[in-house]
Amino acid sequence: MTGRPEILWPLFADLQSLPGVGPQSAKLFPNLDIQTPKDLIFTLPHSVIDRRPAERIADLPEGSTATIAVRVERHHPPRTKGRPWRVDVSDGDSAFQLVFFHGRGEYLKKQLPEGEARVISGKVETFDGVRQIVHPDYILRPGEEDQLPEFEPVYPLTQGISQKLMAKAIDASMALAPDPPEWADGALVASRNWPGWNEALQAAHNPSSMAVISPASPAHERLAYDEFLAHQLTLALARKERRRSKGRVTKGTGARQSKALAALPYQLTGAQERAAREIAEDMGGPARMNRLLQGDVGAGKTVVALLSLLVAVEAGGQGVLMAPTEILARQHLSGLKPFAEAAGVVIEILTGRDKGKERQAKLAALAAGSIHVLVGTHAVFQDDVVFHDLRLAIIDEQHRFGVAQRMALGAKGDSVDVLVMTATPIPRSLNLTQYGDMDVSILDEKPPGRSPVTTALISMSRMDEVIEHLRGALEEGRQAYWVCPLVEESETVDLTAAEDRFKALRAAFGDSLVGLVHGQMPHADRDAGMARFVSGETQVLVATTVIEVGVDVPNASIMVIERAENFGLAQLHQLRGRVGRGAAESTCLLMFQTPLSEGGRKRLEILRETEDGFRIAEEDLVMRGAGDVLGTAQSGLPRFRIGDLESQAALMAVARDDARRLIETDPSLTSERGIAARTLLWLHEKDKAIRMISVG
Ligand code: ADP
Ligand code: MG
Repeated sequence: MTGRPEILWPLFADLQSLPGVGPQSAKLFPNLDIQTPKDLIFTLPHSVIDRRPAERIADLPEGSTATIAVRVERHHPPRTKGRPWRVDVSDGDSAFQLVFFHGRGEYLKKQLPEGEARVISGKVETFDGVRQIVHPDYILRPGEEDQLPEFEPVYPLTQGISQKLMAKAIDASMALAPDPPEWADGALVASRNWPGWNEALQAAHNPSSMAVISPASPAHERLAYDEFLAHQLTLALARKERRRSKGRVTKGTGARQSKALAALPYQLTGAQERAAREIAEDMGGPARMNRLLQGDVGAGKTVVALLSLLVAVEAGGQGVLMAPTEILARQHLSGLKPFAEAAGVVIEILTGRDKGKERQAKLAALAAGSIHVLVGTHAVFQDDVVFHDLRLAIIDEQHRFGVAQRMALGAKGDSVDVLVMTATPIPRSLNLTQYGDMDVSILDEKPPGRSPVTTALISMSRMDEVIEHLRGALEEGRQAYWVCPLVEESETVDLTAAEDRFKALRAAFGDSLVGLVHGQMPHADRDAGMARFVSGETQVLVATTVIEVGVDVPNASIMVIERAENFGLAQLHQLRGRVGRGAAESTCLLMFQTPLSEGGRKRLEILRETEDGFRIAEEDLVMRGAGDVLGTAQSGLPRFRIGDLESQAALMAVARDDARRLIETDPSLTSERGIAARTLLWLHEKDKAIRMISVG
């Protein structure tokens, strides 16, 4: 394996080797996530100060930065302690003041001798009707003006690191930056008018206009692209490596599938057929499958999962379907069982509740191969869960599981094919960022017969009306979810609030009609509560967000969400997706506490406007940022220094395609461009990716 290219060595030197950086400041830079000169050059200014000289201060708006030649008129030492030191100056047109708090008079008099000319740069303010500059950023003698950049970059700072030190350290690091061979696609670079890497950095750090720091400027865009490309190359290499790792050919006969299909009470949608076919083809190929099945809530992912599991069974193997909660696992079991059985398939469930002899018996049957399909929770990860011949692992509602768990399940068999199902329609940019190593099947068509959900925004103060309306609906035999508020700023539910609401609704509608489920209940109670609602015994289910994912009760047509303003958009969309599954007109009431912030109202209005999960996800991304949408920590989403997932989604797609193309044509990165791409990977510390190339 070749090491880090020599041209990059200086950029990975100790920070202390930079002029101006001593042992003290070297300890502070890491607070800005800066460890090396390389990190410094990728720390771009977040704004620019226009320091182009002006003639007259009178022309400049309040709050702007003035750079102006003045004559020093007179010093006014403070009359009383605590007052500032003031200096009258004139720009030849009008007089104004320079103001220094805690100024040392001797020093100021030397800096600004009365009767001499100086160039001053600083922010213009007005105090008591007099224009002034408090603590000018620059005081220069005539002839020193060239020390002043016309457009001065402003960098992010931390305690103990000044703008001057930062600028100096970056300057010194830039002097170490090489001019490496181009790793981006030549045609792309040309068509977008991008500068080379070094030139782009120079432009970003030495702005020639206010526009340079805009993400849309060619220099900035190019550097963002590099970051995306490095990430996508990593994913493309991972994908390549996995596809090279020996997979198994798992070909179905179609025999069990056709029996199951015959038992279904509906026709597959075109999208379901297409997805099932893509999955079967992937399983039937020699490479190992790593596929994402994406579909909005209610798109009908479960039946696609069923058909895929049947492929594994038809080929003589087994399949496992894992859900994030016990409730969902049980629901999958009961949903799949009739059709699995129609196809002659033995299906079982394994959860944390299986204990002792029963569990042993299930494990034995699994190891012997007499259970064909296992549905379960995290419990299926346990070491003593051994399959006879596991061919397919399906993970439902992926965002609750980490990548590591995805891998662990894949390790339970000999080259197990993995299918991940997610109901969170995440924006394409995030999709590509998080799942760029996976192949994707999308259910973009909802099963027919769904009626749209009417969404209304209602103040919490109208609770009585809501309860009265609900009473009428219950009399018509309809069922309702009632979701309780989250504790502000947290993911946990206010249990007291849930229990209080439960009591209040029982008092209003009668004990037997109202049930309660929440995350802290014993599993058995929760399942029983859920089951009573599914069977229609209870008509109102007071719940926490445990019902957020997956739960399917077609007769439920009303969703009430209290304090909706505290929920994320995607979460509200998921919750609302619990209704509108049957033929009945469905309603979602988003109850909010006044006063509702501007942003809060906007968010809720988006939900009222659309049921398009994709659009909602895009809006959510814009409003909250990528980290919050996915939960950076658990998603393993990389943090980009320059690239911006919110505004540069399209660029991520370009990088994905470019990376895949390069890895397809030059998997071991030995072409001229391939070698340049290695430099990019080193530069962005994609060590993992570099190890994967060396394998090839
Ligand atoms: P999700 O994608 O949210 O997991 P489900 O698989 O739970 O969706 O399906 C939602 C509902 O739609 C279920 O009641 C299911 O029986 C029904 N369904 C699925 N596919 C179809 C179809 N092609 N036609 C009619 N109903 C369908
Ligand atoms: Mg589902």
